[in-house]
Amino acid sequence: MLDAARKPLVSVRDLKMHFPIYAGLFRRRVGEVKAVDGVSFDVFEGETLGLVGESGCGKSTCGRAVLRLYDITDGSITIEGREIGQTPQPDLRPMRPTMQMVFQDPQASLNPRMTVEDIIKEPLDEHTTLTDAEKREKVGELMDAVGLNRKFAKRYPHAFSGGQRQRIGIARALALNPKFIVCDEPIAALDVSIQAQVVNLLEDLQEQFGLTYLFISHDLSMVRHIATRVAVMYLGKVVELAPREGLYADPLHPYTNALLSAVPEPDPSLARKSERIILQGDVPSPSNPPKGCNFCTRCPSVMDICKEVEPDYREVKPGRFVACHLFNEINDTASQMAGTEDKKSTNKEKTL
Ligand code: SF4
Repeated sequence: MLDAARKPLVSVRDLKMHFPIYAGLFRRRVGEVKAVDGVSFDVFEGETLGLVGESGCGKSTCGRAVLRLYDITDGSITIEGREIGQTPQPDLRPMRPTMQMVFQDPQASLNPRMTVEDIIKEPLDEHTTLTDAEKREKVGELMDAVGLNRKFAKRYPHAFSGGQRQRIGIARALALNPKFIVCDEPIAALDVSIQAQVVNLLEDLQEQFGLTYLFISHDLSMVRHIATRVAVMYLGKVVELAPREGLYADPLHPYTNALLSAVPEPDPSLARKSERIILQGDVPSPSNPPKGCNFCTRCPSVMDICKEVEPDYREVKPGRFVACHLFNEINDTASQMAGTEDKKSTNKEKTL
């Protein structure tokens, strides 16, 4: 199995994040939005795992849940060997320096009433006992690292461009020497001309500080550039996970195939032979997902079994995981129909 010798820094197993829906005069609970519904993956030390999918597929919720910004519905999250899935929020405080987040919208994530120095210094105030002079020096070093001029430390966020504001957000995320950073669409709110600069900065910082990223994006071209492996999400589930080269050259899951068919290939000699696949219909509501495979309402390869039985998420080639009946053996499917398979335990033992 690929990566069997490497140890995951982060392991996520059967992660569920369901949000209740209340309605009526007495605000009774009438259902739930299954934003993340049984997601499993590993992130190995020093790698960038890309998490891609359409808007609303649950990828941002997944990133936040992994950092325990939510109290998760179910599942296990292990970071550096420590299980934090069910840890109460106050007890997570000592773990916070290890895991940080870079948010999508730097405009919204930076306090407009604080100077850049105060914004970057805030985590140092919360989690360290450094003196004021040491904190100022650390802020200067962080500004150097992300390519911001130290002279501007006393300015406010509005005085900076979008790309510079994202650099401030990255500097703040780096302040406590984290190991694992969730980058939640970090370039989506930036001009195209600035996007490559920020991605290159993230790559440089990864090399410099030995960082591990979960890089969430809907931009498949950018993920292809930065990610080591890629996980594809659809309607709250990971449907395929594979090393970057394999996924882009030979997508296995019909949804991945459709997504990649829409990505322009600049080199005509490398252009994929297949035609663009236009998916019919809308993404079903995560509060009422279809029976069987989540993708069965739009899948060009749908079979009868897909509408009845949820496909198992399994390793079909070394290092390549997919949840689709096209890759299931007939007897596996039969045993699944009989309800004899314990998916949870299978996933827990695997390296994903
Ligand atoms: Fe399509 Fe069936 Fe595979 Fe789902 S399980 S992706 S519906 S072929």
